Amino acid sequence: MLQNPIEHLSVEQKNSKIIVCIKQVPDTQEIKIDPETGTLIREGVPSILNPFDEYALNLAIEIRDRFRNNSEVVALSMGPSQAAEALRKCLAIGADSAILLSDRAFAGADTYATSYTLAKAIKKLGPASLILCGYEALDGNTAQVGPETARLLGLPAICYVERVEALDGGEITCKRESEEGYELLKSPVPALITCMTTSSFEPKLPGVREIMAARRKKLEVWSLEDLGGSKDEYGLRGSLTRVTKTYTPDIKRKGVRFEGKEGVKELISALRGII
Ligand SMILES: Cc1cc2nc3c(=O)[nH]c(=O)nc-3n(C[C@H](O)[C@H](O)[C@H](O)COP(=O)(O)OP(=O)(O)OC[C@H]3O[C@@H](n4cnc5c(N)ncnc54)[C@H](O)[C@@H]3O)c2cc1C
Repeated sequence: MLQNPIEHLSVEQKNSKIIVCIKQVPDTQEIKIDPETGTLIREGVPSILNPFDEYALNLAIEIRDRFRNNSEVVALSMGPSQAAEALRKCLAIGADSAILLSDRAFAGADTYATSYTLAKAIKKLGPASLILCGYEALDGNTAQVGPETARLLGLPAICYVERVEALDGGEITCKRESEEGYELLKSPVPALITCMTTSSFEPKLPGVREIMAARRKKLEVWSLEDLGGSKDEYGLRGSLTRVTKTYTPDIKRKGVRFEGKEGVKELISALRGII
């Protein structure tokens, strides 16, 4: 649960949408390296809802519930058909509806094409007071999609947000992490924020009742036809970057492991040897 993530809320924007962009990612704790090829073994690896997106979703729900003004939390994802599982989880956690952007034409998207597709869907969804993203996805780790989507929508963006301090009089105030510590930033709404998790955040596990209720909520699948435009704007064709080579770096230094009480003594004498 979120512990007082929003200090002060008073803006009245009835019937507006709060859109949360979520990504289904492989559970990195389950990923193993193939000892022969040195590459990641992705087969059979379970997928999870990106944890930063889960935090963003909880923040959106908190804002909606404290407003009590009919704003609707919409979970939005671009991905293959199995990404619907992550959206179902969002519905069970408390999102009101969900949209999956899925089409062969969207495949192979780089971060620009991903942001472009999300931005097209956000425009189609109609007026939104806030758009929330995780600050990064655990698999891609670029942290580009949030700010790129904001740019494409012509919206201000605040990144690395831990807390929304206030949402008041058409302005949002966020506490965000910076290299020097924390900053309080204000922006007019609508705005896009990208979220970090706080150490006190405990993801809420939906119960059977919530899971059953989620089945009755609206989950739509939108294709290229729904978003409009040509195939060249999306996916690999619409991407501005190309991967020319991928490789696993050579690990030249060997790690040493010290275990148990004996290990502590061995570590101390090894360190003495170095110093
Ligand atoms: C050059 C290049 C080529 C690529 N080619 C391919 C490819 O062929 N096939 C492929 O599967 N991937 C490909 N990718 C990866 C793909 O671009 C990323 O998965 C995607 O753009 C998201 O970037 P990210 O994971 O770094 O997200 P980040 O920018 O780290 O994510 C930040 C936040 O943005 C939101 N977000 C990100 N992705 C989505 C999404 N799909 N739906 C909804 N919200 C989202 C979430 O809120 C997330 O927390 C490529 C990437 C690059 C750089």
